[in-house]
Amino acid sequence: MKVIIVGAGIGGLTAGIALRRKGHDVQIFERSSLLSEVGAAINVCPNASQILSQWGFDFERSGMVSARNHMKASGRTLDVESSVTYPDFTPIYGGPWLLAHRVDLHNELRRVATGTEKPGKPVELTLRAEVVDYDVENGYITLGDGSTHHADLIVGADGVHGDAVRHVLGHSLSSIATGWAVFRWLTPSNELTGDPEIAPLLEDALSVRDGMTRFLATDEDMRRIVWYPCADNTLQNFVAVHQDRRTDDEREDWDRSASVEDVISQYSDFHPNIIKIIRKATNIKRWPLLYREPIKTLSKGRLVLIGDAAHPMLPPSTDQGQGGAQAIEDGAALGEIFTDIADNPSLDEIRARLAIFEQVRLRRVSAMQVLSDAGQDRVFEVRERAKQYMPPGVEVPSSMKEFRDHNFGYDVLEDSRRHLREYLDGVKN
Ligand SMILES: Cc1cc2nc3c(=O)[nH]c(=O)nc-3n(C[C@H](O)[C@H](O)[C@H](O)COP(=O)(O)OP(=O)(O)OC[C@H]3O[C@@H](n4cnc5c(N)ncnc54)[C@H](O)[C@@H]3O)c2cc1C
Repeated sequence: MKVIIVGAGIGGLTAGIALRRKGHDVQIFERSSLLSEVGAAINVCPNASQILSQWGFDFERSGMVSARNHMKASGRTLDVESSVTYPDFTPIYGGPWLLAHRVDLHNELRRVATGTEKPGKPVELTLRAEVVDYDVENGYITLGDGSTHHADLIVGADGVHGDAVRHVLGHSLSSIATGWAVFRWLTPSNELTGDPEIAPLLEDALSVRDGMTRFLATDEDMRRIVWYPCADNTLQNFVAVHQDRRTDDEREDWDRSASVEDVISQYSDFHPNIIKIIRKATNIKRWPLLYREPIKTLSKGRLVLIGDAAHPMLPPSTDQGQGGAQAIEDGAALGEIFTDIADNPSLDEIRARLAIFEQVRLRRVSAMQVLSDAGQDRVFEVRERAKQYMPPGVEVPSSMKEFRDHNFGYDVLEDSRRHLREYLDGVKN
């Protein structure tokens, strides 16, 4: 079967790998030159890492760091409020919890998708090719240069500002300002440990330790700095979340710069040692946090939406950290659901497979989207909204352990295989 994927982000590349493994002929069109992946870290949670490890993904080569412990401390006094050492998640959830540099994750996905070592025909990746139109019934996309390209299945993986969603829903995704914004930056670990002024300050809540995530927070207005390492522990990733009403009608622009003074103006009451660490920051980015409601369908005709194109989520500063993981689950599900299918499937067959995809994915991604609208400690704010998307008989998670079981303890490959089996058995009988 011929598949066109629009967008080579985490979702598009994962779908490419999953579909090539099932013998499909996959072409990805990517608008950019792929040199602009955001320089920041990302959590690769066990529900995503278990998929990547089954595909022979090299976590070590990608410099991914195992998440080892979690500490919460007061941003003002640095008094430690809680400290948890994580177990080895692989025996529990089938994969490790990893902290990755986004560029490293992206590069490894691209290598696996387009390389010759893994099963299937290498994905053909065409850069600087913008998809400007879709014919969802007949299975065509049009590029900016006017050329048209046909496929049995078109995967819209074009991200939060993409246009594929309009061709499924008839309108774009509207965003809701949350009144929150983040600053984000990376600091080389040795700039902290090797600085004679800062090194002596790096104790307890500020120590540079392998795989440690710290929440340095205030209780009353919930400002927080989330800090964790990536890239073989050589870089420290900082995400600073704060209320910012000025952001009401801005759209996310992940490349908008901010200064050290901008950050300090929001955290001036934080402990002086944190301020010293903030002063080391360079290349700071700032963006507003916008929320999107879950959508009601993921596909139309031969076009299916995956990743942020379908379900953009708030980032891990709200504790879920599942945006990338859900894009990976989507891609993996597509591969399983498009197994055992004719080379030139009819539109009806594509629709039937996409109906299975929707059964497997829509509730799960919608629940994650709603849960990302509040921290795990504020789940009461979204419980009623989240309830409708939980599987029958399953409660909305409320403790850290329940969140882990819900987020990490789901095997999308197995669930997709089960749904496909039921469908194929029904067709035979
Ligand atoms: C800084 C940052 C940190 C994050 N941290 C985490 C985390 O810790 N954990 C987590 O799970 N998630 C995290 N996320 C969210 C996660 O990265 C996203 O959910 C994920 O990247 C979505 O992937 P995607 O492939 O759907 O979209 P994208 O990565 O946005 O990719 C879309 C691609 O489509 C291309 N494109 C767009 N339009 C067209 C077109 N018309 N034609 C061709 N190509 C097009 C774009 O150029 C882009 O390459 C983070 C996000 C950011 C920005």
